[in-house]
Amino acid sequence: MHRAIENTTDIPTLIPGLSRARASEFTLAPLPYSENALEPVISSRTLQVHYRKHHRSYVDTLNRLVTGTALADMSLKQLLLEVAGRPDQALIYNNAAQAWNHAFYWQSLTPMGGGIPPQNLRALIEYSFVDLAALRDQITAAAVSQFGSGWVWLVLDGKSLRVLKTDNADNPLVQGLKPLLTIDVWEHAYYLDVENRRAEYIKGILDHLINWDFAADNLSLG
Ligand code: FE
Repeated sequence: MHRAIENTTDIPTLIPGLSRARASEFTLAPLPYSENALEPVISSRTLQVHYRKHHRSYVDTLNRLVTGTALADMSLKQLLLEVAGRPDQALIYNNAAQAWNHAFYWQSLTPMGGGIPPQNLRALIEYSFVDLAALRDQITAAAVSQFGSGWVWLVLDGKSLRVLKTDNADNPLVQGLKPLLTIDVWEHAYYLDVENRRAEYIKGILDHLINWDFAADNLSLG
């Protein structure tokens, strides 16, 4: 789903009967808003460095690692599930997961975020956590207690919602869970803006940027 553009140009057959594999690569999808749209919670400088340097680097590295292999013809999600748990493929997994996670993170935020979730999501929040305040508390606690780099997720686990945190690049898809939204808690996501005050970054997101509509849409998808 995150392969925004497919390069479908076939390399011409050089020798009759033989053809080279289709050239394709994973692309960095455009941000869904401008680089200053998340201010003041996330500055344009943070977003610029995060998107143009960190996210791009994961996508470029992934392409370098898989070009010419069967993995290059998979979707990003297929690829990360294919290599997950294989120590010899850890570098590919980490870059693929980070490419996927960041694309999902950009969509988990919106300049018009925060507020009250749509009805279908709100009902499930009340079923799973009692109320929105309790969900916010769980997200904050998970984010603050994550030791080192990682991600905080709202996922669908069977019929209920769950908050979980993952280390480094890890993605809940590997555990068979359905991600609804995520927050990046690597220091590069907030350090330029609030230094080491991760809780302040999380509060800013929950108050102003979290995209409940995106989570609700993911809930409705298959
Ligand atoms: Fe990041």
